[in-house]
Amino acid sequence: MNKNLINKVVSTTCPFCGVGCNLQLHINDNFIYKITSPFDGIVNKGNLCVKGRFGYDFIYNKNRVTTPLIRKTPQKPGARTQAFDKNEWREVSWDEALDYAADRLTEIYKRDGSEAMAVYCCAKATNEDNYLLQKLYRALFRTNNIDHCTRLCHAGSVVGLQKALGSAAMSNTASEVIKSDVFIITGSNTAETHPIIAIQMKAAVEKYGAKLIVVDPRRVEMVNYATLWLPEKPGTDVAVFSGMAHVILKEKLYNQQFIDDRTENFREFAQSMEKFTPEYVESVSGVKKELIIEAARLYANAERGAIYWALGISQSTHGTNNALSLINLALLTGHIGREGTGLNPLRGQNNVQGASDSGAMPWHYPGYQEVNQEEVALKFEKAWNIEPGGLNRNLGLTTTEILRHVHDGGVRSLYIMGENPMMSEPNLNEAHKHMQELEFIAVQDLFINESGAYADVFFPAGSFAEKDGTFTNTDRRVQLVRKALEPIGLARPDWEIIADLAKRIESRLGRPNSSFWDYTHPSQIMDEMGSVAPSYAGIKYDRIQKVGLQAPVFDKNHSGTPYLFKDSFPSGRGKFHALDYQPIDEPADAEYPFILNTGRVLEHWHGGTLTRNSWLDDLYPEAKVEIHPYDAEANGIQTNDAIKVSTRRGEIFLRAEVTEKTIPGVIFIPFHFAEAAANFLTNDAMDPEAKIPEFKACAVRFEKVPENKLPHPENHQKRGRY
Ligand code: SF4
Repeated sequence: MNKNLINKVVSTTCPFCGVGCNLQLHINDNFIYKITSPFDGIVNKGNLCVKGRFGYDFIYNKNRVTTPLIRKTPQKPGARTQAFDKNEWREVSWDEALDYAADRLTEIYKRDGSEAMAVYCCAKATNEDNYLLQKLYRALFRTNNIDHCTRLCHAGSVVGLQKALGSAAMSNTASEVIKSDVFIITGSNTAETHPIIAIQMKAAVEKYGAKLIVVDPRRVEMVNYATLWLPEKPGTDVAVFSGMAHVILKEKLYNQQFIDDRTENFREFAQSMEKFTPEYVESVSGVKKELIIEAARLYANAERGAIYWALGISQSTHGTNNALSLINLALLTGHIGREGTGLNPLRGQNNVQGASDSGAMPWHYPGYQEVNQEEVALKFEKAWNIEPGGLNRNLGLTTTEILRHVHDGGVRSLYIMGENPMMSEPNLNEAHKHMQELEFIAVQDLFINESGAYADVFFPAGSFAEKDGTFTNTDRRVQLVRKALEPIGLARPDWEIIADLAKRIESRLGRPNSSFWDYTHPSQIMDEMGSVAPSYAGIKYDRIQKVGLQAPVFDKNHSGTPYLFKDSFPSGRGKFHALDYQPIDEPADAEYPFILNTGRVLEHWHGGTLTRNSWLDDLYPEAKVEIHPYDAEANGIQTNDAIKVSTRRGEIFLRAEVTEKTIPGVIFIPFHFAEAAANFLTNDAMDPEAKIPEFKACAVRFEKVPENKLPHPENHQKRGRY
């Protein structure tokens, strides 16, 4: 009997957001006919949002690419074009596609060296996929030009947490929120971006009596559950949270014992807080001083206070300082290292935590071991069978830097696994110019998206349901992803494609089998990753069959770590940081009198490669710009009017939604829609430490235009027309 025809239910992990909900795929004849979730599921207790419950039909979308492809017309630097149309590609065998990529990549590496090579790993792919791709680029091309979309979402949080505590992950388990008596949500539209965590937060308020403080320029849904809403102007986070610290210091509401026992640099920090009087903070942020005082008292007097945040904090030219302002508050009050407390950056994509853990980063090997530390490099050389001194000791380029370095003598080739930089990079008009200058591009994905359309060779990857592996969710839980379907067409799991390509590159470099690529199952890759990354040493497939383990898991007897920093911080003492307030890079002015804020909506996910090829697109089919009624009336605009939105970098056309979700002076645009891509508008100025662009605030103007200026409703379908 054909095993594919058997009715079966396969337990796996949701491929969309960082909550990491447990899914059950109901399958008949190699077809998923419904998705449910077990009521005893550790993460989501049977709850699923619309994406996890219904958004899996992208697997069967007719636009999915299931055969390796090579561009018919050779692409030249400077004249590279996008090809969405089937006629512009040639279907080829796997051997031809992989040999072609291996030939071109090796040729460029031999000619121009390691700095010519760069790769975008993928926060949607598994830990094993990411571990292998970073290993390929480090071990074979000797480069650290390796990054992924964490740079564009939580880099500010990561750098801030590393500086202050020595660990960048979410400190506590999300479901512990019901143990908090006060919690802060800031820069996060949790009900839309992490809906199942939002359910737990709502229960914390309504069932367990917790008090919620929301600090956000938008009237997000969680404001309905809040005791206090502090509607700050975009980019004023350091001022608001330092204002709260000022009140806590002045009223002596801090935790002296915690400060004495576990922190350093208190005096310098406290001095820097002097200027943040409630009056000063009100003048900068627009938040009334009484709200700042009340929020400070509420958080400081809590028995267990927690802070949750997302991209509104980190996507800023001072994202690192924004995160540090939150860390200062937790250290000041001792709300860290216990259940129901903590510093909790809510990670975006399903495996952005895991991709970072796996070493898909320009400054770190797997397990956040620094590439410029000699003993670390020697350790990886030994593990990967590389001659001493062979691995690159220089910090690599970050995502945005990779594109900016596309020029003769700089980056010449790019490998993209599952990312879509032509949607996710800021200032897209510039980013497209850089992309066109590349000499060779290889893309591995399910669909030809805005980035894949530039490729020379396209590798069709298997979806989450067609491969085994692990994802690590936002609260560090490493969970199994199970192969439930035979791959459609000639698609292959990402890890298999990478290992096959690596062997071909190795032989062209004259180093056959030097660094081990003969895996028969991803569990072997995880075992190898655990042997070099101490926080994953105890992650074994046989231990996570039913319930995942929360990293760090230091050995095979370690039961995982639900919350961090119980007795100490990885850096020893938690370090306070003196801070000053810096305004956003491009404030509103007479020419561009409003501020643009960007973000996500419930029905879509990131660049839309999956959700816009799903029926979820019917639920939310076009981009809208949110305008406050006050600004709409002043500009003669009503809901559904056609609007042109412009910044100094570009313009897009979309419909208006007049709503009090945003505040006067600030408009909001979701970033999922290629035909009105918000990132044509955004500012590419970066945080100097974290290298994260300022997606969340730039000067903008808008005006009503004739209806025929809007993109044709079917325009977005040019993506993936193959
Ligand atoms: Fe999937 Fe996130 Fe929705 Fe859970 S909350 S079902 S992980 S998209």
